[in-house]
Amino acid sequence: MENELQVVIPADRRVKLLLGKGRGGDGPLRWSSFLFRLPVEEGMLLYSTLTLELLLVPTALVPALEAPAGALREALHSRWFLVPPALDEHGLALDVRRTLRLLEPPAPWITKYTVLTTTACNARCAYCFEEHWSPRTMSLETADRVADYMLAHSEGHPFQIDWFGGEPLVNRRVMDRICTRLSEAGADFRSGMTTNGYLLDPETAAADAALWRLKACQITLDGREEAYNRIKNFIYPGVNAYRRVLGNIHAMAAAGVSVAIRMNFDLSNLEEIRLLTEELIEEFRGEANVDASPIILYEHEEPGTTPWSPETRRALQTARLELLARLEAGGLGRPGRLPRAQFCHMCMADSGDKITILPDGEIGLCEQHNQKHLIGHIDSPGLDEAARQAACALRPEIPACADCPLYPGCIRLALCRNQICHPQRRASREQQKLNSIRYEWENYKRKVLT
Ligand code: SF4
Ligand code: SF4
Repeated sequence: MENELQVVIPADRRVKLLLGKGRGGDGPLRWSSFLFRLPVEEGMLLYSTLTLELLLVPTALVPALEAPAGALREALHSRWFLVPPALDEHGLALDVRRTLRLLEPPAPWITKYTVLTTTACNARCAYCFEEHWSPRTMSLETADRVADYMLAHSEGHPFQIDWFGGEPLVNRRVMDRICTRLSEAGADFRSGMTTNGYLLDPETAAADAALWRLKACQITLDGREEAYNRIKNFIYPGVNAYRRVLGNIHAMAAAGVSVAIRMNFDLSNLEEIRLLTEELIEEFRGEANVDASPIILYEHEEPGTTPWSPETRRALQTARLELLARLEAGGLGRPGRLPRAQFCHMCMADSGDKITILPDGEIGLCEQHNQKHLIGHIDSPGLDEAARQAACALRPEIPACADCPLYPGCIRLALCRNQICHPQRRASREQQKLNSIRYEWENYKRKVLT
């Protein structure tokens, strides 16, 4: 073992089949551009973002990585870690993505419905992207038709519902109605929810979670008590919303629901978010169903907005990485897992089998672009397939893509304003990839080597 490569995570089987063994091994070779290296106590970890294979090169072999020869060279070449100098790796990665998409087209039924029960909200956050909307709320009659639409379009297969808003719980009777109708019809569904958490109820948390088959919810906290209550500015007078929401998070976690706390920040509230991080670590210590993550408020790309300076971007990305590290150390966060299957689409908008249903039954591509990209209605016989195809259009690559190790898994849609790339964001993503590699290695050691 000491002199052998160790496979920590095997390559994506489909990618391996498509690529076969490395090409052109008789001539000179170079390292793949899609490679991450991470030194660890036991040697060097090598990770390919193309095949998704994670290898440990044991310490005894690490010096040989300077100029791999013999069996080591052959092993690394056959696994696409070493490639011929002239290989067009970008073309190869795009071919893999296109072929995967052809081999595994979207399901012909709908696998996920994001349902906006209402666009109204009981909070009044200044940053809310929906602030300019006129509130629309789903009626019970529409809810019945939504449930029937789900039954008809999921064709007996399991599906996911994501409750969204506005604040979805402002119109929870629609959630109750849809879930009851689906359950009575024997549908196999589960749900998640993006909520501010105020209207959850500790008394009924377990029953509600069971009725909605709720497995996960995301709740935003933008600061500690004083800041939160001021920013959220709930419509209810005289209630300590912060304390109430914390209590509701405990209740949902105890009911078996995974709660992801999202902390929105920019430079203006960074110190508050640092303090909130410490408070949450204390509050939820030992609660396995609760975690938290800091999210940088969107940098908008619309005409007329000024891009952030490199200094601002760097400061925000650095702060995010620091907050992530603190949450991990405090038991309230962990690095993302490495993917086991190569991406061939980005998200629900280009998935081809996921839709968003608006309060009046209109159907959109994703919850955040719902009014711009409508593709049908629950009463219409079909969806606008041309619009669905158009949603798959990619942004042009940027010069920095040429040497980016994230390239094989980086899909940026032309329609999405959230997918800006700049050197600071890329550096942060690369660091997070390294964190994930380390995390996978620690898991592997714990499970396999002990
Ligand atoms: S868009 Fe950014 S992260 Fe994606 S491949 Fe290009 S440089 Fe890398
Ligand atoms: S906001 Fe962008 S990334 Fe998110 S689902 Fe919509 S299109 Fe996809």
